[in-house]
Amino acid sequence: MLVYKFGGTSVGSVVNMNHVKDIISSTGKKIVVLSAMSGTTNTLVEISELIKTNELTKAKTNINQLHQTYKATVTELIQQETLREDVSTYVASIFDALLACVNQPHSTLLHNTIVANGELLSTFMFSRLLQQEGFNARLLPALDFMRIDSNNEPDNFYIKQNLNRLIDTSEEADIYITQGFICLDAEGQITNLQRGGSDYTATIIGAAIEADEVQIWTDIDGFHNNDPRFVQDTTALSHLSYDEAAELAYFGAKILHPQTVMPVRSLDIPLRLKNTMAPEAHGTLITNQIHGEGIKAIAAKDGITAIKIKSVRMLLAHGFLKKVFEVFEKYETSIDMITTSEIAVSLTIDDVTHLEAITEELEKFATVEIDDYMSIVCLVGNQIIYHPDTPELFQVLQDVNVRMIAYGGSNNNISLLVNTSDKLETLQKLQRYVFEESVVVGV
Ligand code: ADP
Ligand code: ASP
Ligand code: MG
Repeated sequence: MLVYKFGGTSVGSVVNMNHVKDIISSTGKKIVVLSAMSGTTNTLVEISELIKTNELTKAKTNINQLHQTYKATVTELIQQETLREDVSTYVASIFDALLACVNQPHSTLLHNTIVANGELLSTFMFSRLLQQEGFNARLLPALDFMRIDSNNEPDNFYIKQNLNRLIDTSEEADIYITQGFICLDAEGQITNLQRGGSDYTATIIGAAIEADEVQIWTDIDGFHNNDPRFVQDTTALSHLSYDEAAELAYFGAKILHPQTVMPVRSLDIPLRLKNTMAPEAHGTLITNQIHGEGIKAIAAKDGITAIKIKSVRMLLAHGFLKKVFEVFEKYETSIDMITTSEIAVSLTIDDVTHLEAITEELEKFATVEIDDYMSIVCLVGNQIIYHPDTPELFQVLQDVNVRMIAYGGSNNNISLLVNTSDKLETLQKLQRYVFEESVVVGV
């Protein structure tokens, strides 16, 4: 069985939903994971924020505006009268529920309940489009099988049991449609897999059913060698290894949610990235195979905080690093980059929830300097630290202020820490030095 995932742009208009319908019309059983229509989750987040700040009239106006947009989409999408009535009634029930949220006290649960509606809407509408077109398609509610545990990890045993039971006991179908992003938590409350989480839903499902392949369909022809939002003339990579893709996703390549690779890597299930708007393009195939050497791709992650911790005794005394790490462990805060000198250690974190408490504890035995608005620029490729072209990247040091470099921690990754205000320039210069002015093998 195959798992297909279509992102926000892919289901963002009636024209694109019809492209999706054509793509999945091939024979063979499949599970199709859908995101919300593009823009919907952002609007729902805004609505939740308005309720939080007590701007209730504005929240209601936004809900009603969104409802109008959906009414127009339904009219264009579904021609068959009974099906259209069915969809309109469902859509109206979702917007009534949203209006009811406006009068409730704001909470994380209320927020999660509000933002879940985007995927509920897109999957219902799309399932009825397939019915109209004569497909044997069924809706599998994600909340009936998708659950995370108290560590926010997928509860794989529960997911596997429930998903397979649902497939076995529901009416036989060729296409099962389900919501990306949304799930239950360990207490059975509605939550989600974080923004962009539908990719992760697809690979969790792929692992649960031991799929032959998971395909992520989006609005670009695969994984590019740099961030196309900031750099011109980036090119699509035909192959990546799981490790390369995981590292790039973790370090900010928006095309994949950071956790997407994990569930399929251990089972060796191929992950393919494809363009809904250009299905004939090769896209990117992600497997355990390694293709090429040297720097293959560059990504950047914002929202990084750098912490410089200096031993007050001016000597990197035995046990100093242990004490530092224990503080981060206590507050369950993971460290991305780290460099040390004789008297200091510099490291970066992206989760600042406990920063104040961490600083307070560190200051008991060290002086602490904090810099925020930093970005990690990450260069990834098999054996890059040994490749003869890699030194080209250090030309960037002449032009931008690089705060920290992690080189050699892994053979396949080099990370640079820069001010976020320098990120664009760094990415563009690296593109030139690394991919345009030298010969790089990594394709
Ligand atoms: P979807 O809604 O389908 O999940 P996303 O917007 O989450 O789509 O991801 C696709 C977008 O990721 C692309 O349109 C592109 O702008 C951005 N992107 C960032 N880095 C990369 C990269 N290295 N390769 C391809 N796309 C990237
Ligand atoms: N709709 C969610 C979001 O916008 C999940 C996703 O698109 O993957 O973040
Ligand atoms: Mg996405």
